Amino acid sequence: MKKLWLLLISLIGSPLFAEEFAYQAGVASQIITPTEPLWMAGYASRTKPCNTKKQDLWVKAIAIEDSKKQKLIVLTADICGIPRQLGVNVCSEITKQIGISRDQIMLTCTHTHSGPVVNHNLSDMYPLTPEQPERIIKYTEKLQQAMIDVCIKAVKELQPAQISIGEGKARFAVNRREVTPTGITNGKNPGGPVDHAVPTMKLTDAKGNLKAILFGYACHNTTLSGYEWSGDWAGYAQIELETKYPGTVALCWTGCGADANPLPRGNIELAEKYGKELATAVSDTLPKTFALTAPSTAKYHEIALPYDSIPAKGIWQADILNKQLAIRKRAEKYLKLIDAGTPIPKQYDYYPVQVWQFGDQLKWVSLGGEVVVDYVLRIKKEHGTKSPVWVTAYANDVLAYIPSKRVWTEGGYEGDSSMIYYGHPSRWSSEVESLIFAALSK
Ligand SMILES: [Zn+2]
Repeated sequence: MKKLWLLLISLIGSPLFAEEFAYQAGVASQIITPTEPLWMAGYASRTKPCNTKKQDLWVKAIAIEDSKKQKLIVLTADICGIPRQLGVNVCSEITKQIGISRDQIMLTCTHTHSGPVVNHNLSDMYPLTPEQPERIIKYTEKLQQAMIDVCIKAVKELQPAQISIGEGKARFAVNRREVTPTGITNGKNPGGPVDHAVPTMKLTDAKGNLKAILFGYACHNTTLSGYEWSGDWAGYAQIELETKYPGTVALCWTGCGADANPLPRGNIELAEKYGKELATAVSDTLPKTFALTAPSTAKYHEIALPYDSIPAKGIWQADILNKQLAIRKRAEKYLKLIDAGTPIPKQYDYYPVQVWQFGDQLKWVSLGGEVVVDYVLRIKKEHGTKSPVWVTAYANDVLAYIPSKRVWTEGGYEGDSSMIYYGHPSRWSSEVESLIFAALSK
């Protein structure tokens, strides 16, 4: 018996054992479903707050630590978008409490359109009732605390783990940029580009128990548009996996699906169907994953994205009479600046570009905003020759749509008019794609 113990102890200290557990990992989750009536995010057409839930909404986090003691944290959240200030507050608190840098934290969301409005994210888009602004501020403060708490808890839970990755496929995302005689509309473009990949990460503990499954998909999370809290297809996929693998936390992020919709859409049965399809793609991938063993590197940059041409005062004065709320609110904002003698910004200064590299085993890019599919296709082509590439979008700061040069040239909602709802003074300059690709190589 003593000999057996000695053998076990020497094995634990051996390179073989260290190799098997090249990483430590921890996971944590917390419910963030609003507890009082709150406005729902994502659509301008809603006319009242929501007070019922179909599903709970969650923030979840995975922390990992490699053999060189570098930590990484990925947070997922069932909300429409994390605005910059919320991300800054969360990351600076995590840095203060556990000493890791901004490069090492990735904040993502499922972009559900059945979640609550978060302060400073598309805030000018909604016809809020008078009690809502204060409630939204309070909710955002609670959300911020929950985001900090799950990240810190995930780090505290670090223990030897095997991390492995693979990729499945799900086909419900359909390109939505339909060409019509009057321009590009939000419809159906079955021949248009999409990314059907389902990047999947599996975390098992030292005993081989499945602890967490992280996966992504490049599609708008817009099957539903009613008045019930729900994670939509991402929520159903997470529930399906957590039910199938009890004791496991399932986490979902969104890829470059800004110009893709789950089609057809419009009811709970479809959201559930897509969730199950995605969960099946993930569970079919689990046995085919390979272990990550390489240490990680993490880089995070914020770059300036210039606007196109800023409208003159007369345009804003006309817009203030527009029947669309978002157009009026934007005009009010910029007229105030002009009247105060403050120039309208010529660029957005903080566009986040993050790159995590795991040797030649995985390159994981995350981009801010609602990124169209052309980005993931080009990144895979240009950066995916040596290792698999994942591209997470809606990450760190959901500030606007991010069109490719093609989509910018074609125009339409993703290339142009969506900037109104995010409160920017004009569309992006034509350089947006080349600036982001230059930052990826920094
Ligand atoms: Zn969107």
